[in-house]
Amino acid sequence: MRRIIHLDMDAFFASVEQMDNPAYLGRPVIVGGSPQSRGVVSTCSYEARKYGIHSAMPLREAGRRCPHGIFLPGRMNRYMEVSAQIREIMLEYTPVVEPISLDEAFLDVTASEKLFGPAEQIAKTLVGRINKEVGLPASVGVAHNKFLAKLGSDLKKPKGFVVIPPDGVEEFLAPLPVSKLWGVGPKTTELLHKLGVQTIGDLQKIPPAQIRSRLGESGEVLYNLAHGIDERPVTVEEEAKSIGHEVTFPTDTGDRDLLEGTLLGLCERVARRMRKQGLAGRIITVKLRNTDFKTITRRLTLPAPTDFEEIIFRHALSLAKKANWGGKQLRLVGVSVSGLQKGLQEQIPLFLTEDHEDLKRLHETVDLIKDRFGETAITRGRLLTGFQRRKNAALHEKPE
Ligand SMILES: [Mg+2]
Repeated sequence: MRRIIHLDMDAFFASVEQMDNPAYLGRPVIVGGSPQSRGVVSTCSYEARKYGIHSAMPLREAGRRCPHGIFLPGRMNRYMEVSAQIREIMLEYTPVVEPISLDEAFLDVTASEKLFGPAEQIAKTLVGRINKEVGLPASVGVAHNKFLAKLGSDLKKPKGFVVIPPDGVEEFLAPLPVSKLWGVGPKTTELLHKLGVQTIGDLQKIPPAQIRSRLGESGEVLYNLAHGIDERPVTVEEEAKSIGHEVTFPTDTGDRDLLEGTLLGLCERVARRMRKQGLAGRIITVKLRNTDFKTITRRLTLPAPTDFEEIIFRHALSLAKKANWGGKQLRLVGVSVSGLQKGLQEQIPLFLTEDHEDLKRLHETVDLIKDRFGETAITRGRLLTGFQRRKNAALHEKPE
């Protein structure tokens, strides 16, 4: 039997802000932006939740509910740093760590029990160390599969500690609402309600063939989850595989706009290929080659996987800038993403004007258009500008 821990930081971004600014302790902290902006709440402290504020709520609504709240734009680099610190602690107990987002991870500790004691004890040690060494609260769930471990960590937040033993799992699940099943969002919940299914127990009573006919393939997954069955392994990313693109310029260039536009275009293609294959990755590598054929590569590891070109581009650009690319004549620019894994659960949240869901929908739409009408059917305004610039430049180069 497997032993799996799901560790989830409590109100992570808000907790980091409270840790770094003790004046915020005990006060409603809302991370995401100003209450006048168009965006949504990314995370809020438990003090803010008393006002009915929650993640994904429009910031304006949060501002209305809690005018005296502390609204912060968020500091992604700081959260990534803290997340990495937490990951280091987890890796001391097992190499099988699967990050789901900056503040959440699965650990398979089946093989660690001989060394560190039972999974429950490892979970306690982890939470204790994160509390003491990092300074932040976390919740954990311990079970024999991922679904139950995740469910456990969610049941008694904050500072929850829930062990779900294998015996009596069905009875334990029966009274819970179906929305607690992994992957059951508002739409599926509505559908299930229409079928007269309110609790997981209601779902357990329906014969599997009937669930499948009503819900298709996902019906089978739901049937299994309702019975506490989940065979998915805790997966460690594959570093070796990578998806990348590069271009060689017809003439070496130091034109900053052209370079940035090219890099963005490459990131877009890489992200699109990743999405097509259902992959997300954590390691971003930038490759630059100058006039003398000297190649520079720079890489960084994100705390959580992504398939968003916006995220890949932002980090790729900062890597290129660190390599001081602006001052050089370049003949080649490339970008690749490795540390790939299947089945992305959650993205690294963005602090851009577009909110996360908007971007996701945008990607889906653009992918669809490209699938149907070809890769050049749709392009970013920024890339078009780059193209026109090059066209103009070419016109100027024309001999008279
Ligand atoms: Mg969390």
